[in-house]
This record gives sequence, structure tokens and C-alpha cells, in this order.
Amino acid sequence: MTALALSSLSREELRRWLEGRGHPAYRADQIRRHLLRAGEGGFASMSDLPLQLRTELEESAVWSSLEVLAATIADRGLTEKLLLRTEAGHEVEAVMITHPAWDGSRGRRTVCVSSQAGCAIGCVFCATGRLGLRANLTAAEIVDQVLEAARRWDAASVGRPTNVVLMGMGEPLQNYHQVVLAIHLLHEWGISPRQVVLSTSGLVPEILRLAEEGLGVRLAISLHATHDELRDRLVPINRRFPIASLLDAARKYSAASGRRVTLEYVLIRGVNDDPGAARRLGQMAASVHGHVNLIPMNPIPGSDLRAPSAAACRDFAALVGPRATIRHSRGDRATAACGQLRASLTPEPRRQERILARELALVESPSGPPA
Ligand code: SAH
Ligand code: SF4
Repeated sequence: MTALALSSLSREELRRWLEGRGHPAYRADQIRRHLLRAGEGGFASMSDLPLQLRTELEESAVWSSLEVLAATIADRGLTEKLLLRTEAGHEVEAVMITHPAWDGSRGRRTVCVSSQAGCAIGCVFCATGRLGLRANLTAAEIVDQVLEAARRWDAASVGRPTNVVLMGMGEPLQNYHQVVLAIHLLHEWGISPRQVVLSTSGLVPEILRLAEEGLGVRLAISLHATHDELRDRLVPINRRFPIASLLDAARKYSAASGRRVTLEYVLIRGVNDDPGAARRLGQMAASVHGHVNLIPMNPIPGSDLRAPSAAACRDFAALVGPRATIRHSRGDRATAACGQLRASLTPEPRRQERILARELALVESPSGPPA
């Protein structure tokens, strides 16, 4: 029997669990406070709890569903990548990003969490996609990434996590139920769904389902191409849910949630960086009343795809128009940036070959029909 992960329970569920074992319900809050605190290493050190409860917790529950294998610091301490292992032995990564306060704005602390080990979608420019799907994470494993970050920030006295982005390894909407459960649980840890961004490669039925859920999370759509012929090759899920249906779902999500959607666009030199694409992207963003995040592609192992020059990225952004912002993802030297997460997993050779063949085809043929 696997031990109970405390992070899988809501506050109320933990209260009931304790009561069921003859302990007062208020112990739940004591335990939950420990889970956020620096220097905590397990139940034994919770000296404000009676010994018998500590022993019971030791026997039937786990302190965290994740083991920290390594932590890598980048950007002069503002970014930290955690390599984590689930109980089932799957490795995933989470990234802690600190945005210091400046110009009157309050500082933010964002945890970029994984929703799966690996990913089945297979986007050509993404290191996680080259791994294939290894496992779905449980809600507890998603929440524990945030709690681990909270303890580390507490140790450095920088404060609680303020934001969560589902932009680590995996396609969150392919693990719909656990992801939604994790978003509910995180609310009780002080992160409201409005502080959560869910990034998806475009699973239309799940986007519509999420709209009905009424959670109010911010949706980011990984678009990366403005016509289906190219998007089919960059983001293979497009063959099932082409661009028009995706933008339609984005509009519906935006209307239902009252929140602007973001279109993400990884800029890849010679592939999707032509002026026609920029203009169409600007029009698409206007059609969903959304914003565009342009992300110069971060290099990944085994791929020759690269970002355009900084000047070319700026020119592209200018053509997209006022809705576009260039986002340089943090942590690229620690391979902690967007698309670079792959834990210490290696791709299966046959999958790697298939994706490489798609990459070569991309580079050899022009980037698509003229604007
Ligand atoms: N699977 C989800 C969320 C995880 S990826 C999705 O695809 O949206 C988070 C973001 O990183 C996505 O927008 C993805 O397209 C982007 N990304 C992937 N590989 C990248 C790379 N090599 N450089 C820059 N961004 C990348
Ligand atoms: Fe999966 Fe997102 Fe990477 Fe595509 S970009 S392979 S959907 S993690």
C-alpha cells in the first residue's frame, strides 16, 4: 500500500482524517503550517504535535510525495531548478522563479510546475516532447512541487509562492482531472486560480471543459504557427484540432472566464519567423482579444533549431503589433528555461529519430505558403 500524501488532502479532508483517528481536527492546521516551513525534514521534527500523532503520521503518511534529487541555481539566484523523483520512480523538474519588487510593484515568486513526466505531444522544438510520455503526475505530486518551493523560499526568507504556471514538463490538459484537483488544492495553500496560468498545446475539448469548470485560471495557448500546414509539423496535436477550432475554443474560454488568453509563439529561425506569419499572428491575437508572448527558442540537445537574432525577434514583434511582448525565458544556462526540461531522462532512440526526421523536413522546406 502506498502511503498517504498529505498534499493530496484538502484542509477539511485532513481534519476528518485526524478525527477518524481520534485526534483533534485543529491539528490539521498545525501540520499544514509545518509543510510550508523552512528546515522541516519530516514528521519527527514537528515538536508541537504529541509523540503518538507523530508516530502515526510516520507510519501511515509521507511528508512529501516527491524526493529532491538536485537543485541548480541560475540567474544569480533568481532561478532555481529542482530535479524531483516521484514514489513510482519518475523524474520531473520544477523551476522556482523570483521576480524582485521594483518601481512600486510587488515582488512575485512563481513556481513553474510539471504535470507529467515526459509528454506525448512531441513538439519538434521541445526537449520534453522528445522523451515521450512516461507518467501522469498525481495532484499531490503537482502540489508538492509548490510546497517544496515554498520551503526553499521560506529558508531564504523571501516569502510565499505567489504564482503557479503549468509550463513545466507535460501537457496539463492530457492529465485533466489531477491538474484541476491540484488547482483546487493550491487555492487552500494561498494561490488562487487567478494566479495560475495553464499552458496547453491545444486540446480543444478539454479547453471547453475547463471553461465550464469556471475556475478562472489564465489560459495560455501554444500556437507557434499561423497556418495548419506548418503547425501540423511543429505541434502534431494540430492534426486533430486545427488552428481555427483552437482559436474558437480560446474565444469561448475568454468569454467564459472573463480573462484574456495568451498566445505563445516560440520563434524559430527560418521556420516560423517570416513577416507574413507576424502579421497573421497579430490578426489572430486581435480575433481572440488576446496577448502574444514571443519566446525566442531555447536550444535543446539533439536539435539544430535556433532562435532568430535579437534584432530579427524585435522586427517580428513590431510587425505583430502592440499585442506582442518578447519573453526571454529565465534559467537557460541551467537548462531550466521553457522547453529545456527533461530531467535526466533520455529519449527513446526511435522516437528521437522520428522527431529528428520532422525537424529535417522543416528546415529543408520553406516555412509555408507566402503571406
Ligand atoms: N505542454 C504545454 C505546457 C508546457 S511547455 C504547452 O506546450 O503549452 C511551456 C511552453 O514552453 C510552451 O509554450 C512551449 O511551446 C514552450 N517551449 C517548448 N520548447 C521550447 C523551447 N525549446 N524554447 C522556448 N520555448 C519552448
Ligand atoms: Fe509537450 Fe508542451 Fe513540450 Fe509540446 S511544448 S512536447 S505539448 S511539453
